[in-house]
Amino acid sequence: MTTVHFTCPDCEQTIEVNDAMRETILESGCPVCTATAAEGDFAVTCE
Ligand SMILES: [Zn+2]
Repeated sequence: MTTVHFTCPDCEQTIEVNDAMRETILESGCPVCTATAAEGDFAVTCE
């Protein structure tokens, strides 16, 4: 199983995201502080 975590480069919150949330964050920014997010801010973990 693959999980994706977003770590905000600005407020440093780490959030587990699904594909839809990932798209939303890339479009709208961090859900906590609205900082712009990039592909590199997502970490994929295979469990
Ligand atoms: Zn943030």
